[in-house]
Parts: sequence; C-alpha cells; structure tokens
Amino acid sequence: MNQMDAMRGNEALRRRMFSAVRQGRFPHACILQGAKGSGKGLLALALARALQCETGQGVSCGTCVSCRTIESGNHPDVFWVEPTKTKVLGVEDIRQQVVQEVSIKPYSGRYKIFVLPEADQMTPAAQNAFLKTLEEPPAYGVFLLLAEQAASLLPTVRSRCPVYGLKPLSQGEVASFLMEEKGVPAQQAHLLGEYAAGAIGKALQLLEDDSFLAMQQDVTEKLFLLPKTNTATVLGWAAGWTAYKQQPLFWELLLLFYRDLLLEQQLPQSKFLMEKEKRSQMAALGRQLTPGQIRRSADAVWTAKKQAAQNVNLQLALEEMLLTIKGEQHV
Ligand SMILES: [Zn+2]
Repeated sequence: MNQMDAMRGNEALRRRMFSAVRQGRFPHACILQGAKGSGKGLLALALARALQCETGQGVSCGTCVSCRTIESGNHPDVFWVEPTKTKVLGVEDIRQQVVQEVSIKPYSGRYKIFVLPEADQMTPAAQNAFLKTLEEPPAYGVFLLLAEQAASLLPTVRSRCPVYGLKPLSQGEVASFLMEEKGVPAQQAHLLGEYAAGAIGKALQLLEDDSFLAMQQDVTEKLFLLPKTNTATVLGWAAGWTAYKQQPLFWELLLLFYRDLLLEQQLPQSKFLMEKEKRSQMAALGRQLTPGQIRRSADAVWTAKKQAAQNVNLQLALEEMLLTIKGEQHV
C-alpha cells in the first residue's frame, strides 16, 4: 500500500505538494500546520518517501529500499528531530541534530530530510539557532516543520517557510480510513470517527485504547438499563463510573447517547446515528420517552459535567445525574 493512498482528506493540498515534488520545486523548508492527530506526521512521511524514492520521479514507488526504510524509520537520510533534555526542542537539540547533521552530505538519498514534530514548541533560542540553516540550506536540505499553530513560531522563521494547512477530516473520511487501512469493523470505525472529531491520529489512539472501548460498552449498556434499574444498583454504578475520571471522552459518550436517542426518535433510521448496532434498542427506548424527557436527561449530564469541572465530588455529581435521568425516564 502506497503511503499516499493511506491518507484521507486534504486532497487539493496534497495534490499541490506532491506535484511540487514531482516538478523538483518543493521548498527547502515548509510548515505543515494542523491540529493534533490531523495527519501531519503521515504527510511528512509520504513527502519524504516521494522525495527520496530511488526511481527519482518524485513519486514513492513503495518497493525500493529507500521507500521501505523510510516506512520503517531506518532511512539514513531522514531524521525525526526530537527533544533530548526537556519536553521541547532546545538550542542544543537543533545544533546537534540539525545544524551539524545537515553539514554532512547525504549518505544514500538525494536529500537529507529533517522532520521537526511540534516545531511550534521550539524555544526562541532554538529557532534562532535554526535560522542560519533555513536562510542558506544546502541544495540537499529539506526541513518539514510540523506545527499546530504556525503563528507561534518567530516571524523570522515563518517568513522562510510556506505554510501548508491541514483541515480536519469528516467523520466518514476517518471511518473509511479505519475500515480500509486498519480492518476495523464498520460500526466501530464510525464510532471512533465520531469521537475523534476528524483527527486520524486521535482515532488510532482510541483504537489502541482498550479502556475506551470497554468504557463505551459499559456506559452504553447501563444507560439502556437505567429506567428499569433500582436505586441502590444505580448508586453502585455512580461509584463505579468515578473510575472514568481520567477518560477525556466520558462526558461526550454520555451526551452522544442522548443525542442519538433523540435523533432516532425524531428521524428513525437516520444514517447519522453513530451507534448503528444499538439502533433497535434506541428506537425502543425512544418510543417510551418524550423529546422533553430526553432533553432533560441530556441536561442532567451537562449539569454533572459542569459540577465535575468545578471539583464537586464526582460520585455525588454522578449519583445526582443518574437519579435525575432515572426519574425523568421512569416507565
Ligand atoms: Zn521507491
């Protein structure tokens, strides 16, 4: 599988960049700007492969030694510049990993490519140390600066690097990536696509995170049972759910449940419903409730979410939330 094909979205941007590579007019330095998980790293890898491919056509063949070693991270002329002492790139990192390294000719590739993840976190001193190299790069030097915010870089650095902005993908684009590249079943792919809000990197992280899928299973199952469960048991759930304190998507999961419930009730069989496997269960629960009851259930989640953010005891907030919803949905 060619790396190009493994990417999704941002077609126009990619076409522009890769045609510059083919025509031999790719800039020595550029900024790839996009949110966390938007595919900056994948794009940098694909560009490195196209630039270095032994066919010399500016297109990655995917099979030559160069293409394969870049994929596995072992290419002698492709460098990922990483912080060594602190969490951000400092002046010594730039001196040792970039300035000194670029003065040595490529080992086997046509170019020497430096990828700087989180370049916008570089210290000002590091950026100043980088400047001379950016101003007068050797013919074989290529610098790919990955940044969430290009504006965080010094103007002197920015003025030497065109900015290529990556947009978040649609939920469907993330889902099709997961299905085709990772063999994720359709329903789960759509679910992860929804939660990842357009960021493939985030979706991949969630995919590897068993605890997310376990939480999703647990929470959804219980929300269906809630109207028919006795108070003592519900209080036990509240205690158990405090374990999800560190899960960033816990509240979204709850809110999406009620959004889906309302959606299924108002627009049955909508293709936007994310948890398709739960559709019949959703439809059954939806038939027992009024839109107002569902909305007030979602409001109870919002209230608990706000309380948790204000350091109200999480278990108390969850107890109140679940009992409020149970009261609303009493059947
Ligand atoms: Zn190749």
